[in-house]
This record gives sequence, C-alpha cells and structure tokens, in this order.
Amino acid sequence: MGILLAGCAAAAPAGPLGPRETGRPDAPAPHQAPQPSQAPEQQAPEQPELEAVEPIAPTRPARRPGAYANDDPDDDLVVGPPDAFASCETDLAAAGVKFRPASLPVHTPPRSKIACGAPQVVVYVRGPGDIAYNVAPVVTCTMALALASFEKIVQAEARAKFNSPVARIDQLGTYSCREMARYPGWVSEHSYANAIDIGAFVLKSGKTVEVLRDFDRGDAPPAKPAGAFLRAVSQRANDEDVFSHVLTPFFDAAHHNHFHLDLSRYRADGTRPR
Ligand SMILES: [Zn+2]
Repeated sequence: MGILLAGCAAAAPAGPLGPRETGRPDAPAPHQAPQPSQAPEQQAPEQPELEAVEPIAPTRPARRPGAYANDDPDDDLVVGPPDAFASCETDLAAAGVKFRPASLPVHTPPRSKIACGAPQVVVYVRGPGDIAYNVAPVVTCTMALALASFEKIVQAEARAKFNSPVARIDQLGTYSCREMARYPGWVSEHSYANAIDIGAFVLKSGKTVEVLRDFDRGDAPPAKPAGAFLRAVSQRANDEDVFSHVLTPFFDAAHHNHFHLDLSRYRADGTRPR
C-alpha cells in the first residue's frame, strides 16, 4: 500500500530515540482530584446497586482540543496496535473530516514476531483545511483526527508565509507491515497505519514546497519562506501535541526527504537541530 522509508519511529521507548520529557505545564492533569461536595448538609440518597457494564471501548483521556500525542508515561512500554475508541468516527465527523471506513485486520505475518494492522482504520478523504492528498491516506482513526489538527496548522502557516493555502499534500506512505530498517526488533507505527510520511506541500498558487529541497538544516531561523513554513509546521505539530513523534531532516539522514508523523505511545521531538 504505502511506501515506508527507512528509519521511521518505533513503538518501543528504550534505545536510540528515548522518551521525551513529559509533564508539560500546559498539559491537562492526568488524574483530577475529586472535588468536595457542594452541599455537605444534605444526605445523598442511597444509590441502587448497578451492574457493572464493560465499556465498548476505552475512552480517550480528556485533553486539549486537537492534541492527540500520547503523554501517558505508564504505557510507554506497551507494544502493539493502538486502541480503538467508541467515539472516534463521531469525533471525525465533528472535526469536519470526510472519511470512509477501512479495514486492516490485526495479524501476525508468517515468520514474523510483530503484529500488524489496527482495529479502527479509515480512509482520510478530506479534512477541515480542504487539502487533497496525492493518495488518500489509510490511517488509524485517531491519526485521522490528528491530521485534521495538522491541516489547520498547515493552512495557517501557508497563508502567513505565502498568502496562499495548501491545495495538496504529497504523502509517501502510511501502512507498512515491518520492523524498522535501522533498528531491527523495533516496531514502526507504520505497521499499524498509525503514522504518515509527508514529502511535499503544493500551494493553491502552484508553488511546491519539498522537504528534500526546502527544509533549512541551519541552526538559525530559516530565511526563505519555504524553509520557514516547513520549520513552523513541524515545530507546531510537536509543540501543540498533535502527534507523538514529529521527525524531520534534523532527526537523522533517513528523514532527509520527508516528515514522519505518528501517534506512538511515547514522545520524540525531531524538529530541532541536534
Ligand atoms: Zn515514517
């Protein structure tokens, strides 16, 4: 289906990438303390005992709108397809995403130790930024939500830098069932369609911004609009917690020609000089 370029992010925290520091001051507290009762003088009526009902699917933790990065330190060691969420397709519609249901059944290929596929996958047809893709991405439902957030950042930065919106994103691949080329034994989020590689942005004006050609690898803020655009969209995608991993040419040579965006269970910021 998609083409996976080497070196994309893995779903294991130990090793060459390592988890990002968590506990950001703008992040919601993971567990809110219960609030004291507002009416202590009134005795609450006894509640009838209810049968416990298993939820259909886990509930996504509450967090800032548009932020889908996984900042939970307790699941960093979990390796496997991402969870499905009962509300995900409703959330997609609310986010203005046109999509089609898709299927990538979870399976373990012959002679492989890793599972591939995911329980909740969609074809991302069109998002709130009205950006077309060269190939409609097949991604997990939560990745589709994150792509909707990403589109808003892309369009804001395109209008600011070029006074023209982005009409098309050229992606290089989403789903690819395999271990990471550079780190054998590590499982790429591409194995779950929980990642996307992006090579270029095509503006409505006709101008093309390519990661390979236009990404500014200098320490200083980029001087050219195309470099400034690529720096801004990648850093905002990381800093606004849209994705767990945002890897750019700053990260390593394997990403010299694309951005890798994924929803791993741990964080990595590959948007800054190393
Ligand atoms: Zn990738």
